[in-house]
Amino acid sequence: MNVQTSIGHGYVVEAPEPASLPARGVEARFPVHRIYCVGRNYAAHAVEMGHDPDKEPPFFFQKAPDTILQPGVAFPYPPKSSNVHYEMEHVIAIGRGGKNIAVEDALDHVYGYGVGLDMTRRDLQGEAKKMGRPWEVGKSFEHSAPMSEIVPVAAIGHPERGAVQLSVNGELKQDGDLDQLIWKTPEVISYLSGLFVLQPGDLIMTGTPAGVGAVSRGDVMTGSVEGIGSLEVAVI
Ligand code: MN
Repeated sequence: MNVQTSIGHGYVVEAPEPASLPARGVEARFPVHRIYCVGRNYAAHAVEMGHDPDKEPPFFFQKAPDTILQPGVAFPYPPKSSNVHYEMEHVIAIGRGGKNIAVEDALDHVYGYGVGLDMTRRDLQGEAKKMGRPWEVGKSFEHSAPMSEIVPVAAIGHPERGAVQLSVNGELKQDGDLDQLIWKTPEVISYLSGLFVLQPGDLIMTGTPAGVGAVSRGDVMTGSVEGIGSLEVAVI
């Protein structure tokens, strides 16, 4: 993509390691290119956030790839917020890129799936919404994307139903199902690939079911998508 090359020249400042996640069953890691997130993809969550799911189609935003929190690592409570929410999500891991991908071809572009948390500084996101400003301060802060390992399609196929759950300190807070997604995996990939050129290594967080809420330091979040995987994240 980039016509410039650094080969033989190095970098003028320290270059960061590319973001990546473990992949189940193999030594090699899944390299993370971009993290796309779908907004309001479960009707019940759209309603709890004060929107009419019939009138507002899903939309996209991004979290920076280096916001990923590796499996098993604690989530440091972020600064400048007193209302940090969990959003448990089904995650699509793209293995083959493309643009203008047809719905019927979309699943051929999937390497695998994972589960993730779209951690959100809800107070800062709310201010941004009110003022018509971008969402980055609410969505794309350090460690705001705790993720599981990526599980290849070869191991689990393409799950279309299965519980999407999140508990805090053992108490069930979110209890949705993949079959409640307004835009399904193939449709999300197809639509997104009309807006952006998808690349191997892209992750798509597909939205959260109802029941989002705040966490505090000391809480432990346990989330899962049935048939895909789970994660446990302590808030410190
Ligand atoms: Mn979300």
